[in-house]
Amino acid sequence: MADLLELADANIFEVRAYRNASHAVDVSAVEMYEIVERQGKKELEKISGIGESIADNIAELIYTGKLKKLDQLKKKIPRVQVQMLAVPGLGPKLTKKLYAILKPKTLTDLKRKLKDPQYLPKLAKILLLKKTVDKILTGIAVLQSASSRMLLSEALPLAESIVAQLKRLPEVKEVKYAGSLRRGKETIGDIDLVAKIQDKIQISNFKSQSLSRAKLINHNSNLKIIKYFLELTRPKQILAQGESKATVINNDGAQIDLEIMPGNEWGSLLHHFTGSKEHNIQMRAYAEKKGLSFSEHGFKKLKIKNPKLKTITKNLKLINKILIYCETEEKVFKTLGLQYIPPDLREGTNEIQLAIAKKIPKLLEPSDMRGDLQMHSNYSDGKNTILAMAESAKAMGYEYICISDHSAGLGITGGIGGNNYQKYLAEIKNANQKIRGLHIFSGIEVNIKSDGALDQPDDLLKKFDVVLGAVHNSLGQEKEQMTARIVKALSHPLVKILVHPSGRLIDKRPEIQVDWRAIFQTAQKNKKILEINACPKRLDLKDIYIRKAKNLGAKFAISTDAHSARQLDFMKYGILTARRGWLVKQDVINVLPLAGLKKLFDIK
Ligand SMILES: [Zn+2]
Repeated sequence: MADLLELADANIFEVRAYRNASHAVDVSAVEMYEIVERQGKKELEKISGIGESIADNIAELIYTGKLKKLDQLKKKIPRVQVQMLAVPGLGPKLTKKLYAILKPKTLTDLKRKLKDPQYLPKLAKILLLKKTVDKILTGIAVLQSASSRMLLSEALPLAESIVAQLKRLPEVKEVKYAGSLRRGKETIGDIDLVAKIQDKIQISNFKSQSLSRAKLINHNSNLKIIKYFLELTRPKQILAQGESKATVINNDGAQIDLEIMPGNEWGSLLHHFTGSKEHNIQMRAYAEKKGLSFSEHGFKKLKIKNPKLKTITKNLKLINKILIYCETEEKVFKTLGLQYIPPDLREGTNEIQLAIAKKIPKLLEPSDMRGDLQMHSNYSDGKNTILAMAESAKAMGYEYICISDHSAGLGITGGIGGNNYQKYLAEIKNANQKIRGLHIFSGIEVNIKSDGALDQPDDLLKKFDVVLGAVHNSLGQEKEQMTARIVKALSHPLVKILVHPSGRLIDKRPEIQVDWRAIFQTAQKNKKILEINACPKRLDLKDIYIRKAKNLGAKFAISTDAHSARQLDFMKYGILTARRGWLVKQDVINVLPLAGLKKLFDIK
């Protein structure tokens, strides 16, 4: 909104008011609609940075889903300028300048012009460095690929519910979600489901008569399954509907595919649909080395390029026939003499080589987790009380949690600083006494200022069991400066965990530019813990960084950053991300029993 006002040359004070408000909304992390629903619009005005007219705007947006003022503004401004604002790395000032000299009609047009050398002198005139141009181009690419993908937290519950419903049909022997969802990727294109009818087809009985009968039974079950699938997904659009598959777009715009397969090909088909593409290509190449051709239907003998053989039709028939059916995925790997590779690792990096050497690790499991080390209470911007958070955590079977409300530096109501920490610590102590069988660590999420200093004095930080450091502002700093900033914070003796290290919001805010190797090495050397933030909008650190940091000897905490008791459930997304980063139990600190963790944190 503020950006649009700036584009429309509005009064600078109005622009600033909207920008402050938007910052307040961003850092608040309690959803605005929750505040309005629970406490009414007036409550919004208590948030610093939000005045009456902006509170009205927010309420209008929540109740009507629209904002008149915004719609009017958008009409005034060329459409492409509005789109340009959504590009990560493109602010209103640059948008204006770029629009003035390039006059792009669409984002794609802008992309083309930025790459075209004939515009270089013009770009140089507004002092646009090559680096900035590259940043904008990456931003456009991120934006253009983002819109069609779902967050893991959107795709997983949807897929799980369809799977549960399909399982109720007696014709369905097994059903699973495959694809990138099964591999636990942070965003999902479409949801691929595979269902199995019949456990096994008796191949030896495939005389013409029984074959047609088997086909007929299959045909009827398939039709029933497809019909049910179409009912339960309530599609907005049916893209394809066939004998054994269907593709729909549901009301939320999610594409869901269902493929039905006979039991004796289940393992190879499930493997095929799980991917990744790179992994599958490498598996086929490895099979070839072993004289086999591998497809979703199973293994065949590799065609021999001997011209003499071609004349013998009988032999050719044998070659074209599936030699080995794989009823299970385990059999696929076993046939090739490979150790089983969990879906999370099938990205075509070096998993096949490691499986040959039998060096695939036993990955972290949800049941390994004994606690959650980052969450917020209603003391600052969370929804529930400290005690309520603790009770929910206890019900999940945890042994401990860390309540880690924000420090005051961010301007959040209830932020800890000055003298109010005593009340906060007393509330934690109180909750600790009331609840049995769960220990609450007192924590503070302290802001790492742009120069790497912490926003609270050591004397205050010393009162807490766990100090969690995070960067929240000046996220666009140059790489060197940002690296020095975080290295400095990781050298502070009181900081124990670096939380949401890259600062990204998936598809919304790019990660900070930083020398990750230096960060990970410093963390390892200074015995600081790196967080894997399990909030599905963040998933930060991300998978490839986790693996890098692990290889440099770093240790991790997987934490939800929950702002309500319900969000404690985010842990599963953090675990999936950790598994994609090849983490085992020993890499993670919140699998330790309470005594072990106290020792690690040096708490008596
Ligand atoms: Zn934070």
